[in-house]
Amino acid sequence: MLATATTQKNPYEVALENFDLAANALELEENIRAMIKYPERMLTVSIPVRMDSGRIVRFEGYRVQHSTQRGPAKGGIRYHPNVNIDEVKALATWMTWKCAVVNIPYGGGKGGVTCNPKELSLGELERLTRRYASAILPIIGPEKDIPAPDVYTTPQIMAWIMDTYSMNMGYPVTGVVTGKPIGLGGSLGRNEATARGCFYTTRGSMEHLGIPLAGARVVVQGFGNAGSIAATLFHEAGAKVIAVSDTQGCIFNDRGLEIPAVVKLKNETRTVAGFPAADRIRPDELLALKCEVLIPAALENAITEANAHAVRARVVAEAANGPVTPEADRIFDDMGIFLIPDILCNAGGVTVSYFEWVQDENHLFWEENDVNAKLEKIMVRSFQDVLKIHIDRQVNMRLAANMLGVRRVAEACRLRGLYP
Ligand code: GLU
Repeated sequence: MLATATTQKNPYEVALENFDLAANALELEENIRAMIKYPERMLTVSIPVRMDSGRIVRFEGYRVQHSTQRGPAKGGIRYHPNVNIDEVKALATWMTWKCAVVNIPYGGGKGGVTCNPKELSLGELERLTRRYASAILPIIGPEKDIPAPDVYTTPQIMAWIMDTYSMNMGYPVTGVVTGKPIGLGGSLGRNEATARGCFYTTRGSMEHLGIPLAGARVVVQGFGNAGSIAATLFHEAGAKVIAVSDTQGCIFNDRGLEIPAVVKLKNETRTVAGFPAADRIRPDELLALKCEVLIPAALENAITEANAHAVRARVVAEAANGPVTPEADRIFDDMGIFLIPDILCNAGGVTVSYFEWVQDENHLFWEENDVNAKLEKIMVRSFQDVLKIHIDRQVNMRLAANMLGVRRVAEACRLRGLYP
């Protein structure tokens, strides 16, 4: 499904290109650009792991802090075979604008380990995680940089990071990571938060465009945390999820897939591919399905100039980070496709991470209804903020969101001034 690394656009170039577009539209002064555009700190670490066989294998890991202008760095950790420093830099940069768009008091960061977690035993995964956490330990902490889950990392992995950090400090520090299990200072609603945010912003977009949610055809690429829960929420809201995919295959049913049954199959077999009440289609066919909402919920570069013309959705909701390239953005503009950019669409995850951190720091926990209500309020307000810029300034939603995020970071930077 994914193009090979050589044919892929470098996500960090995409991040810089989108920053420049926003900075130009804001007529941002060069001095501020120089201070907020590039990552503040980048750490590369070696992670030797004793495998179950007794052999020691060396992995490489990263933690990038793009910005701490508005607060501690914040962002997930990705375990994936294609992780590299430029991808982590891009993801960290996007976290900065994302946290600013939803106006939570964080900068942006991201981590990654180049590995295939599907090939690791549970013991190997734990040893890799603890050694990686030890290696980045000097630069993380609840007031410095707070990791969280991302692609192929889980609440259990966050628990191991919390434990490794706490054992080194000599006391329990739950606020050092978010996305933890509920039994360890995690927040109710965190697991569903990315998908909920995607749902709220998509619902807002459909209202804006006059597209009814009931019966709307929805296509989801990627069936991990964000994709599978988004599919469930749309299904529950009366939309018709006609196709979903994962790395093993794509399934399609024009009458609508029975999403709870697809989720059950995914949990049992780790893939949606064998779902009986559906046809198998190719990944390129999935992206070209006529639908109201297309949700890329996998990785970067899913939609490029090579396949954007084939898209027949009214709304594209970026549950993933960076799935649509700048060239594809321009094609969508020409085609009149309404894009909800990643830094808005998937910001529900980091928003509830913020709630989790607040709860941990206060040792006081909220009910799930409160979490969801506060999340909805922030997502609805942020969507309206971005939509207003889109309308007032006649720019696409990507540029509008980047303008809002960059403007808020620039403002903090101006207020703080340049040290020394
Ligand atoms: N990895 C998620 C993202 O890309 C969540 C980050 C967080 O919760 O800190 O937004």
